[in-house]
Amino acid sequence: MNRKVQIITVTSLSGGQGKTTTAFFLGLSLAKRGIKTLWIDGDPQHNLTLYGRSPHKDDEPTLLECLTASVKPIEAVYKTQWENLYIMPSDRALEQSQTFLANASMGERVLHRRIKDLPFEVILIDSQPGRSQLCSTCICAADKLLIPVESNSKGLVCLQSTLEAIDDLTECGAFTGKVAAIIPFRDTIRGINRTKISSKALSYFETVTKENDIKLTASIVDSEKFKQAIDAGTYLPDDLDRTFTQLTEVVYV
Ligand code: ATP
Ligand code: MG
Repeated sequence: MNRKVQIITVTSLSGGQGKTTTAFFLGLSLAKRGIKTLWIDGDPQHNLTLYGRSPHKDDEPTLLECLTASVKPIEAVYKTQWENLYIMPSDRALEQSQTFLANASMGERVLHRRIKDLPFEVILIDSQPGRSQLCSTCICAADKLLIPVESNSKGLVCLQSTLEAIDDLTECGAFTGKVAAIIPFRDTIRGINRTKISSKALSYFETVTKENDIKLTASIVDSEKFKQAIDAGTYLPDDLDRTFTQLTEVVYV
């Protein structure tokens, strides 16, 4: 019998916490290991579509048409330049899905219903920041959530509010998965030492993950090399890829 697809959503309520960066490099890492992976760009800012160099044309189907059932889900899937890696892209028009989802019955479950039978081993969804119908349907589609958060005081506040939003969706029965990992983003090392701000944030993340039985991954260090690799479309050097190697084991067990 075929293995059930693992649906993973990368989410955090605040902007700039490392969601798209995580979805991008984790997708590359899974595909490199031979795992057939689909990226879904759940953000109208569509950074993942740009990072992933989606080959679709402007008038071709995207996540919006998949959500509104104007096309079959597979018709909005495109092969990327990387082996084993596919993308369901988005553009600004995805904002229109908010009204559609608000009027749909169980709008939070729409994305799950549409994608659950797609022929992939892992589906990796990048969500938009903030609470919205679109963000909720991306969260509730998932078996597992990954939460990247900046290693500073903004990250602490963001982690708390993100976990609260997930609790709300769990309590009303819309989210049935689990938070699988918290990923410290932009861990700031100066010389050989971690800054006080990052140290404080990491010790808070340790407490929260222990209390809630969530994995805390190796941090993503603050470095221009990540942006350079995204711009060049290349794999990370091994020393920077550690977080994503760990995450492949979290999402594909
Ligand atoms: P949004 O909520 O706006 O979608 P996001 O959570 O997806 O943001 P990213 O886009 O992944 O966050 O990252 C925010 C910014 O940090 C980007 O400009 C990205 O290029 C940059 N960046 C990515 N990785 C690193 C890193 N390791 N160190 C420093 N900056 C980084
Ligand atoms: Mg993003």
